Amino acid sequence: MHLARYPREFLAHLPTPLERMDRLSAELGGPEIWIKRDDCTGLSTGGNKTRKLEFLMAEAMVQGADMVMTQGATQSNHARQTAAFAAKLGLGCHILLEDRTHSNNDNYNNNGNVLLDHLHGATTEKFPDGLDMNAEMETVAERFRAEGKKVYTIPGGGSNPTGALGYVNCAFELLGQLNDRALKVDHIVHATGSAGTQAGLITGLKATNANIPLLGIGVRAPKAKQEENVFNLAKATAEKLGCAGVVERKDVVANTDYVGEGYGMPTEGGMEAIAMFAELEAILLDPVYSAKGAAGFIDLIRQGHFKKGERVVFLHTGGASALFGYDAAFDFNGRWVS
Ligand SMILES: *Cc1c(COP(=O)(O)O)cnc(C)c1O
Repeated sequence: MHLARYPREFLAHLPTPLERMDRLSAELGGPEIWIKRDDCTGLSTGGNKTRKLEFLMAEAMVQGADMVMTQGATQSNHARQTAAFAAKLGLGCHILLEDRTHSNNDNYNNNGNVLLDHLHGATTEKFPDGLDMNAEMETVAERFRAEGKKVYTIPGGGSNPTGALGYVNCAFELLGQLNDRALKVDHIVHATGSAGTQAGLITGLKATNANIPLLGIGVRAPKAKQEENVFNLAKATAEKLGCAGVVERKDVVANTDYVGEGYGMPTEGGMEAIAMFAELEAILLDPVYSAKGAAGFIDLIRQGHFKKGERVVFLHTGGASALFGYDAAFDFNGRWVS
């Protein structure tokens, strides 16, 4: 398996650090917890989409695109990283933003990732929720093509076999770090949404016979749907890499018990996770993805699913810039001194 066969724009800050979280480990009294800092990939506050975009944007350049287009929820981290990458490459960028949360909060609609989209020069267009957004995007792309633009469209979350190569690469990178430091790991845990992160990781882990179980904590879809999405994308990614069949259905595990009311709606467990990571480890999570991933991770430690004597890696997928769109979700329990 040789990733150098695929075009790539090297823009991410790699390798991302792998750090031990001593204070969080002590607080929970369970396994030894490590964190893989994919919140530090660079590109306008970083996050997991940067790795995928290295391969997607390279494909856009090879195809001679002069603009890229993608779609996501209003506070999409993927949209913001795409806008930043496009700025760096000198490409135009148009983003379709779906109103998945029906929020009329001003910061939610204009601050955080939305502010950054616009700072990077992207144009945005709002859509109500419930539409087939990848189909809407093709319609909008035709509009731009009719004006003579060479448009490269990127699916939501950058989740297709090209984007997933970024997380095959992350699996290789993480294994290298673990092997170099003689760290035997029992589990890897992360937030899973549009499926590309988990699909790429499991493909890389299986192709190298790493034998480390991977758990995705869902942020939107129910378990059966989430696992099916990840499995289908992992199969297609393995096929692209010439190792078809390397991922089996049983390798794809998602726990979707921590979604709460729905996508983009903060949960109590998520808010607790944000406070714990911030106060104990000086690490920022976001309410939409990484906090729900961490909430599931913390709860599973409390339930004894991850045990003392084990070593677990939490992959931090980023998202902290969304915090500034979600300030209304925080109540500082009397700790706020005015
Ligand atoms: C997109 C995103 C995820 C989910 O990754 P997928 O590849 O879409 O499953 C997790 N965390 C953050 C912060 C994200 O922006």
